Amino acid sequence: MSDVITIAVSKGRIFKETMPLLSTLGIRPVDDPETSRKLVLQTNHANIRIIIIRATDVPTYVEYGAADMGIAGKDVLMEYAGDSLYEPLDLGIAKCKMVLAGPVDSIIREGRPRVATKYVNTTRNYFADQGRQVELIKLYGSMELAPLLGLADWIVDLVDTGNTLKANGLEPLETIMDISSRLIVNKAAMKMKHGLLKPVIEQLAEAVTKQCR
Ligand code: AMP
Repeated sequence: MSDVITIAVSKGRIFKETMPLLSTLGIRPVDDPETSRKLVLQTNHANIRIIIIRATDVPTYVEYGAADMGIAGKDVLMEYAGDSLYEPLDLGIAKCKMVLAGPVDSIIREGRPRVATKYVNTTRNYFADQGRQVELIKLYGSMELAPLLGLADWIVDLVDTGNTLKANGLEPLETIMDISSRLIVNKAAMKMKHGLLKPVIEQLAEAVTKQCR
């Protein structure tokens, strides 16, 4: 096995909030993914590289060992079906809530409410655990539109400030779970590259503790 560490990160909020943590470990990417089109970012450490992929692909790259470690939201991990990932650390970044939301003062029609979401597995489990019957509609984005156009009664989505819900006449009805980003590690790499990965995990844990203080 090579002595290179590959870290999978998604663009946007997770990347922005991960970089300060990595920089406390002295790890800095040479290029900025917001301005560079490179998908493999070299860092100031010859044996550490960062790959930029879609948030929902991070667990897949890590499970198959194409990346040794990755940073993924709990929402993505809950939805991901694989079970061969270590999740050693809650990084406490990209925090938000997954909520059930619906139109302000709406009256839910008789029968099974329709719920639009991209988190179909998590939503199915949430309602099944409570013995509630719903019809799920899978969407890939702009969930807030579904109740406005009568496609669904409710949505399950992530909420940070609540501004997006409010701007579309929706309000949170129930909190499904608190979300933050987690460090995930490939199981084989954890054994084969233990000497390389362990210090990174330990130093990240320290950086997270310091940031929380
Ligand atoms: P807000 O208007 O601040 O409540 O943000 C809501 C929008 O941002 C929704 O479209 C969410 O899907 C998205 N969002 C909020 N927090 C996160 C997060 N931590 N990760 C990914 N998407 C998020």
